Amino acid sequence: MIDLHAHSNNSDGKDTPTELVENAAKANVSVLAITDHDTTAGWQEAINAGSRFGVRIIPGIEVSTRQAIGNHRSISVHILAYLPDPKNAALLAELEKTRSSRINRAKKMVELLQEDYPITWEQVLAELPEGATIGRPAIADALVTAGIVPNRSDAFTSILHSKSRYYVSDHSVSTVEAISLIRTAGGVSVIAHPLIDFPPGANLQDLPAEFFAELISAGLNGIEIDHRAVPAAAKPWLRQLALKHDLIITGSSDYHGVDGKENRLGENSTSEKMLQRILDQATGFEPPL
Ligand code: AMP
Ligand code: ZN
Ligand code: FE
Ligand code: FE
Repeated sequence: MIDLHAHSNNSDGKDTPTELVENAAKANVSVLAITDHDTTAGWQEAINAGSRFGVRIIPGIEVSTRQAIGNHRSISVHILAYLPDPKNAALLAELEKTRSSRINRAKKMVELLQEDYPITWEQVLAELPEGATIGRPAIADALVTAGIVPNRSDAFTSILHSKSRYYVSDHSVSTVEAISLIRTAGGVSVIAHPLIDFPPGANLQDLPAEFFAELISAGLNGIEIDHRAVPAAAKPWLRQLALKHDLIITGSSDYHGVDGKENRLGENSTSEKMLQRILDQATGFEPPL
């Protein structure tokens, strides 16, 4: 089983990198990518645990990006970067910018929430290790700990969703720029869970072909198609697109820990052939054997 998208507590997962790798081994995952949001901080611990538990680790990053759609709208896009050089200065600078903007954004969300709920910034910070990439899940955890909602999922559906009055968006690099940064750093870029906002029953003709064309011409290497959040109706269209442009296709869990999200390690997998294409194209970091 090859699972190429999972989070540790270096971002918004619940497991330490060691626990993540141990849980992967238990789930029969033999190749695991650690892809925390906007950080490489968990790589080394995951690699060490990988050699202990017999799991091959593919270090990666889930990069937060934002792309304009037409003239008036922009959407949040997650780009998985596999095996980029973790010392590449341009990439590091962009990740650092995103992480610090996430702190300000989370503070602003907490301020808005304080108008209605008794939570503090300190309570949010207490939910994650120092230096971890902060996001809405940490705020959700603080709401759970304070007894305001029963679990993370509930916090998202009732309070923290993107249309909520408490929602603030963060700064992110443009998707096209991120793809180019990843490539320059020797990494392989794969768009994570595409079209998650695609409404069920919507006309396939309405799919944003231009959006994908732009990313592909910027050098996008692959598409994560087998992911529980990708609408079934979009999958055939995405497969055709990948075939037409000779893109890598991946399948992954996007595990965030047992209590972090419903996604379970190994619930989707990537083929050996596709993994090999990632390994062949990456030049930024030599993965452990
Ligand atoms: P943010 O990056 O701060 O915008 O928060 C988005 C993160 O929240 C994503 O990485 C998701 O994995 C997580 N998330 C989104 N919806 C849910 C949910 N319903 N339950 C748990 N986690 C969620
Ligand atoms: Zn996440
Ligand atoms: Fe994501
Ligand atoms: Fe993710």
